[in-house]
Amino acid sequence: MTAAYKYVVVGGGMAADAAVRGIRHQDPNGSLFMVSQERFPPYDRPPLSKALWKKGGRVESLWRGLDYDQMSVDLRLGERAVRIDAAAHELWLAGGAHVHYERLLLATGGAPRELAGHPVGVTYFRTVEDYFRLRRAMLSGHEAVVVGGGFIGAEMAAALTLAGKHVHLVFPEAGVLSRLLPPRLAAAITEDYAQRGVTVHAGRQVAHIEARDNETWRVITDAGDALDASVVVAGLGIVPRVDLMTAMGVDCPDGIVVDALGATAVEDVYAAGDVANFPSPALGRRMRVEHEDHANRHGECVGANMAGQEQAYDYLPLFYSDLFDLGFEAVGRLDSRLATVEDWVEPEKRGVVFYLEDQHVVGVLAVDLWDRMDAARALIVDRQPVGDGSRLRGRLTG
Ligand code: NAD
Repeated sequence: MTAAYKYVVVGGGMAADAAVRGIRHQDPNGSLFMVSQERFPPYDRPPLSKALWKKGGRVESLWRGLDYDQMSVDLRLGERAVRIDAAAHELWLAGGAHVHYERLLLATGGAPRELAGHPVGVTYFRTVEDYFRLRRAMLSGHEAVVVGGGFIGAEMAAALTLAGKHVHLVFPEAGVLSRLLPPRLAAAITEDYAQRGVTVHAGRQVAHIEARDNETWRVITDAGDALDASVVVAGLGIVPRVDLMTAMGVDCPDGIVVDALGATAVEDVYAAGDVANFPSPALGRRMRVEHEDHANRHGECVGANMAGQEQAYDYLPLFYSDLFDLGFEAVGRLDSRLATVEDWVEPEKRGVVFYLEDQHVVGVLAVDLWDRMDAARALIVDRQPVGDGSRLRGRLTG
């Protein structure tokens, strides 16, 4: 007999969990099934590369606190969904079982991009199990190699340094977070990393990794440097998990395309979180956002829409990071190829960067300045032409 549910959620990350909240807000009793390939129920990911490495950081703080039993959610952990039969409204699981759905949510997130042809020993850092693996590896040796100059690379290089390791940070760009930050800010952060003892290999790729013994790897860069380490962590971005859609012949050029409610091109199938390519009315374009605030807000909104609410997602999510002592918050599009206006209270330490396109503000970064995100959103949503942007100075720093 096929189990039949009103709602089926694929995925066990933050967006999936938020969707359960959204569904239950609208429909306290509709039958609900969630399947996640992780072994743990949904948890917060950001602390994995931030708070857990600080003094007093505790794994228990990760759990998100939804009581799935009390909310009558049938939770299936450690299993993958492998196929959707859209006509029959059935979802098939790797173990051979299938469930019938009225509404299906794909909150499948993304898989870490891997180094081509590269070996065992690299921790692609995304899950709490990766965190446990890394903690074990940390017990031996003093040297660590972190590959990638994006969020994981930047945060993990800081975290491992603070945990007492000597870190080699290897990435292809000119500086840490160079794809996002204007060049002088990226250079200042990169210099700060070097001052704190990180050996920075900017402009470098990993050419090869070989096992030295059971506990040590040798990472060889394209400059020929050989870096021996007991810990190798990589953050090379994620590849959205879209295979359930592409298997049905749906084109997914950059994630699963959804409308303002979160609905996909397939009847009664929705998508939310990292995997969803959604229209942003504020930015006048489609986007995919791989950050916590979006996972929570989009998940909740789409979940509620599956259960009868009809609310367009028009939220501009924020994101944030901690890089040693430097913290920032940001909203909108941060892309270092855009024109920028920099408004510093203290150069490269405290201030605001505005990102402009066609004389409009499309993104705002606040460095070591807090509670600026509502005003920043208003500037973006406003869509007022700002000329060369000089009149933006002082708008958010005061
Ligand atoms: P990312 O997109 O932030 O960075 C990818 C980085 O990969 C690039 O900057 C580049 O330096 C590097 N790279 C790509 N190919 C490489 C190669 N062959 N050799 C060396 N480096 C290479 O992705 P991430 O850091 O892996 O993070 C994964 C996801 O988790 C992202 O979606 C990110 O937004 C999210 N995340 C967010 C936060 C936050 O919001 N603070 C923190 C951690 C992770």
